[in-house]
Amino acid sequence: MSLPEIARFTHILPNHSITSPLAWADILEIQSLIPSPRQETPTMRLSQMFFVTLREAPAEAAIPSHALLLRAGYIRRIGSGVYAYLPLMWRVLRKVSQIVREEMDATGAQECLLPQLQPAELWQESGRWDTYTKAEGIMFAFRDRQDREVALGPTHEEVITAIAKDAIRSYRQLPLHLYQIQSKFRDEIRPRFGLMRSREFIMKDGYSFHVDAASLKQTYADMDRAYRRMFQRCGLEYRAVEADSGAIGGSGSQEFMVLAEIGEDEVLYTPDGQYSANVEKAISLPPDPEPSPFTSYEQRPTPNTPTIASLCEFAGCAPSAILKNVLYAAVFDTGLLVLVLVSIRGDQDVNDVKLQNELTKLAPEFDAATVLALTVPDADAQKKWATRPLPLGYIACNLNDDYIRPSEDIHPQFLRLADRTVVAMKNFATGANVGGEHVFGANWGEQFDRPQRVVDVRTAMVGDRAVHDPSQILESARGIEVGHIFQLGTKYSQAMGATYTNEQGEELPLSMGCYGVGVSRLAQATVEQCHDKDGIVWPVAIAPYHAIVVVPNINDAAAIAAAETLYRDLNQAGIETLLDDRDERAGVKFKDADLVGIPYRIVTGRSLKQGKVELVERATKRAEEVSLDAVVAEVKQRVEGAIKTMLSAAE
Ligand code: ATP
Ligand code: MG
Repeated sequence: MSLPEIARFTHILPNHSITSPLAWADILEIQSLIPSPRQETPTMRLSQMFFVTLREAPAEAAIPSHALLLRAGYIRRIGSGVYAYLPLMWRVLRKVSQIVREEMDATGAQECLLPQLQPAELWQESGRWDTYTKAEGIMFAFRDRQDREVALGPTHEEVITAIAKDAIRSYRQLPLHLYQIQSKFRDEIRPRFGLMRSREFIMKDGYSFHVDAASLKQTYADMDRAYRRMFQRCGLEYRAVEADSGAIGGSGSQEFMVLAEIGEDEVLYTPDGQYSANVEKAISLPPDPEPSPFTSYEQRPTPNTPTIASLCEFAGCAPSAILKNVLYAAVFDTGLLVLVLVSIRGDQDVNDVKLQNELTKLAPEFDAATVLALTVPDADAQKKWATRPLPLGYIACNLNDDYIRPSEDIHPQFLRLADRTVVAMKNFATGANVGGEHVFGANWGEQFDRPQRVVDVRTAMVGDRAVHDPSQILESARGIEVGHIFQLGTKYSQAMGATYTNEQGEELPLSMGCYGVGVSRLAQATVEQCHDKDGIVWPVAIAPYHAIVVVPNINDAAAIAAAETLYRDLNQAGIETLLDDRDERAGVKFKDADLVGIPYRIVTGRSLKQGKVELVERATKRAEEVSLDAVVAEVKQRVEGAIKTMLSAAE
């Protein structure tokens, strides 16, 4: 490398080991200039490749896509939530990454590579160190030999904001959007399903900076389009849904869900296509309550009725006539424990994500910034703060504060929240604050003070009416989250002091967005959606290879010669083609080709004598005889056709 060339590598910011877009482009360019030691096509002969398939699914696999990726030799488990991407998988991941890259580049975003090793100070500046190391505990954090705290990047808002703070001065530099594709580390509490929820996984993450919310919204809309194109091009059936922003923060956010039965997320949507949301975020109209059968107020014994169902049976009422009170323990980042009493109509459930968000909003009242933990305290946990046993199952919303033994880190009063569903309740039944007793026919403003803090913490449910059109009834589907885009606003720039100067010379915080795609999760989600009883059915655009030439009998010299020619011609025509030249029975080879999921199989079998080969399409299993002279053109046309269809569908 010449000196001027080396100098071009110094597009590296002082104090930050970021590989900037310019330097990264150089590295890629120079890599491609280094002549490969062997000029011929890389070997795609199964007899010489790393190719190990298993007959049986390993016991660790609980879902089809995980079992298939293990059986077909795509991945190997190295430890809990840690996988090796074997050569076939790596080809798929590179193809998915390339589609992602093309769509990102087309929006004007620039690729870079940020460090995975991140200093704690950045996370302390943003205020997320405790949330990520203690509350969620999802970040791998440790001390280095100089006793400095560092962490492995679960996400990169802090790193990128530090760069923006250094490098962005003026509105003239905006908007700016950088992205990267790299391994992320998250100490998931329950890693499972292979690449779906692993502890080291590949993500594309992008971060954009703007002068204001309007400019951010524009890029957010561009990302929405780019993401739809990516997923369409990968051949996925997906749905864009309104989402909770979680610990990442900010205002609006949207997730992209691949619909699949095993999905960990529940999506609620209306048949008119106007509304879909993650259940964590979804809103709806609750069903109308049934009229209460209790016409006058009384307190009476109700033995063995600690649950809504048992009370309904005992008292002969509907759940909607009962005021349910649920006790939570919230721990704020200051260490303060606050006991939260949530009232909600008996036929409804509290949504923990919505509750956590409401508590975060209330954090400043407790001189705190965020909620570290939210739990339903069991008997053991209650001992820490309760002066005497609580009448669990018989609690009313006015439970006396003297149940709490206050201390420096225990708030002396219950924080009483009421879900919107309780406001209109009349003549309701609820606990009597005495074990084994309830009150009936109670009313707000009579036996109970009207709720002071009314919030929406209700879980929307399938069968509810939609807010935008009550004639639309919510339906439910399971989804795998493959992408998530956020409008972060100024949360990070304000915390970390990342500002710019506008045209009038005023210094303002940068507006920010962030956009993630789970590249490795997406690859497995595709398998979850595209497989049959025999194996994987890759969409052509991300299949590790397009075609496989199978020689059923390797003692047949003519069959080998024809296969070798086809293998060479197909590859030369740009069709990525494998050659199954292994000394195996034909049945084994066909089974393997189906399992691995190569879109087109070409067999040099008996019909070779008539100048023909068998062409089998993996997705449909349709087999036909095609003349030896025509097969390369035929496969090329089909491969290109399949990729083009996906591209134009994305247009
Ligand atoms: P989840 O709710 O599934 O835990 P998340 O909301 O925490 O995911 P984001 O921070 O939005 O994830 O990350 C962006 C993308 O990275 C997700 O949409 C998902 O596709 C992927 N992803 C997140 N966690 C994992 C994981 N443990 N394994 C594989 N992919 C993941
Ligand atoms: Mg997410």
